Amino acid sequence: MTTISANLQAVLARIAAAAPKSRRNADDILLLAVSKTWPASAVREAAAAGQRAFGENYVQEGVEKAVELASLGLEWHFIGPLQSNKARRVAEIFDWVHSVDRLKIAERLAEHRPAALPPLQVCLQVNVSGEDSKSGVPMADVPLLARQLASLPRLKLRGLMAIPAPHDDFVQQRHAFGLLREIYERLKRDGLKIDTLSMGMTHDLEAAIAEGATIVRVGTAIFGERMVKTSR
Ligand SMILES: *Cc1c(COP(=O)(O)O)cnc(C)c1O
Repeated sequence: MTTISANLQAVLARIAAAAPKSRRNADDILLLAVSKTWPASAVREAAAAGQRAFGENYVQEGVEKAVELASLGLEWHFIGPLQSNKARRVAEIFDWVHSVDRLKIAERLAEHRPAALPPLQVCLQVNVSGEDSKSGVPMADVPLLARQLASLPRLKLRGLMAIPAPHDDFVQQRHAFGLLREIYERLKRDGLKIDTLSMGMTHDLEAAIAEGATIVRVGTAIFGERMVKTSR
């Protein structure tokens, strides 16, 4: 077994151990392998070990890998900061975008999503950590923006995503994820048909699963420590 394959098994085992503690089924939790900064060969290796869904943060890098590996039929999720001048490429290449944080971006994605493809699956990124985090929509703005997104053509609003400020303490980790879960439940009560909570990474996926995560986004535990810090 390769390192990546062994790491993947270990992460799947973490998910399988965490789910029943909250009376959840591990099959209801999607593992998104975050391959940012890693070469296409690493994605290929993970794919050979059975991994289907991959997350990328940088448009150019993600597009290159998705195009090179198109014949593998993988699912590509964009999870990084998105500028409107790059929205077209993302709408053309990716299956999901987790990081929608304003109406203008969503409108660009909708406008450029090719008619031949299924609707782009999107999550609204929410800032659950206030001052500690600059990315994401303030919680107070979520209900209106979610409604606006849900009404756009060529997009399918699937739910919410967050990257809380990192904590070592399980209770504090859970608290931030709990805030996201509360807004999510409120949107559902208000009639939005959503099914996705994208939250939890290498260091806090158990806390996220305890609060209802349906997608965990894991990079380091699968591919190793990232050497390069790119800023594209
Ligand atoms: C890098 C990244 C991840 C993965 O983080 P790890 O700590 O390496 O598991 C998840 N989500 C987002 C948005 C990221 O940028």
